[in-house]
Amino acid sequence: MDIDSLPDNPYLLLTPGPLSTTKSVKAAMLRDWCTWDDDYKQLVQEVRTTLTRLATDRTDLYTTVLMQGSGTFCVESTIGTALPAGGKLLVLPNGAYGDRMVQIARTLKIDCAANDSGEVDPPDLEKLEATLKMDDAITHVAVVHSETTTGMLNPIEAIGRIVKKYGKVYIVDAMSSFGGIPIDVAGIDIDFIVSSANKCIQGVPGFGFVIAKKDALLKCRGQARSLSLDLYDQWKTMEEDKGKWRYTSPTHVVRAFCQALAELDAEGGIARRAERYRANHRTLVDGMRKLGFRTLLADAFQGPFITSFYSPEDKRYAFKTFYDKLKARGFVIYPGKVSRASAFRIGTIGDVHPADMERLLGAVEASLFWKG
Ligand SMILES: *Cc1c(COP(=O)(O)O)cnc(C)c1O
Repeated sequence: MDIDSLPDNPYLLLTPGPLSTTKSVKAAMLRDWCTWDDDYKQLVQEVRTTLTRLATDRTDLYTTVLMQGSGTFCVESTIGTALPAGGKLLVLPNGAYGDRMVQIARTLKIDCAANDSGEVDPPDLEKLEATLKMDDAITHVAVVHSETTTGMLNPIEAIGRIVKKYGKVYIVDAMSSFGGIPIDVAGIDIDFIVSSANKCIQGVPGFGFVIAKKDALLKCRGQARSLSLDLYDQWKTMEEDKGKWRYTSPTHVVRAFCQALAELDAEGGIARRAERYRANHRTLVDGMRKLGFRTLLADAFQGPFITSFYSPEDKRYAFKTFYDKLKARGFVIYPGKVSRASAFRIGTIGDVHPADMERLLGAVEASLFWKG
C-alpha cells in the first residue's frame, strides 16, 4: 500500500488524546481481522507482552489486561475489581481525572475518601501519611500521574513509598504519561497502572490497558461490580484462551496499536520518545513566554505532556475566536479545564515534533489579532 497517498489530516491535534497519529498507524486498520482467529490472538498476546515489558523488567511479577472502551472504562474496571467488599479507597485528586476516580468509587458504592490538594498543587505527602496512620479502613490508594486537567506531573514514586509503608494497594492512572516517560512500575511497587491506546503510545481510541501485579490481580476473583468491566475475568480469559477477549474486541484498533508499538520501538523506546516530548514542551513554553503568555503551573510541577496557559488579559480575547483562527492555520488546541482561572491547554504528545511547535508559535502570533 502506498501510505503517502492516504489523505493528510486537516489539522494537527494538539489535544492529549485522541492525538495525531502517523499514516502508517491508520493504514494498519485497512484490513479486517477475525476476533477469535489464532493470527489475531497471537497479535493480542504480543501486545500484552510488549506492554508488560515497557512497564518493567520484572515481567515475571506483572501481567497486562486489555479492556474495551476509553481510558475511563479501564479506571472504572480497575477500581470496581480491585476493591473488595468492605474495602476503602483513598484518592489524592488535584484535577478532573482525580475527581473522576472519586466519582467512580461513589457510583460503585465503594467507601472512598479524598485528600484534595487543589488544581495547582501536588498531593500533600504529610497529609497522606497522617491519613493512612489515622484511618485503618483504607485498603487502596489511587492517584493520577499526569493530571491532564492542568499538565501537573504528580510524584508517584514518593507517594508510593508512603502507600507501601502502610501496606496499601497502589493504583496509578498513568493515562496521559505511560509510554511518554520512563516509569519503573516494579521499582515503585505499583499494583495497578492504567493507560489507553490513544495517548503516548500513539494509537487510535478504542481500548485501554491495565498492567497489574499478578499477586494483586489474583486476589480479585469474584470482586467486580460489573460483568463487562470485570478486570479479573478479562485477564483470565485472555490468559487461558491465549489472547481472546471476552466480548467483541476492537480488532482494527488493536492492529493499529501493534503498529504504534513498533513505531515506539523504532523511535528508540520510551526514553527517546520522552526526549522528543520534552523538546516539544520546551519549544512551546519558551516560545509562548516570548509571546507574553504565562503558564498556570510552576515549572517544578509541570509535566511534558500538556501545558495550561492563562488566557490573555486583553478584553477582546475569546477562546472560540482564538481556537478557530488556530484551526484555520492547521492546529487544534484544547480549552482550559481548571475552575479557578481562565486558561487554555496545548498538548505536546502524538506524532508531533519540535518543528511543529515552531510552526504553531508562528500561528499563535498571527492569531493574536488584538495586538498590533
Ligand atoms: C485521557 C485520560 C483519561 C481517560 O479519559 P477517556 O476520555 O475516558 O479516554 C483518564 N485519566 C487521565 C489522566 C487522562 O488523561
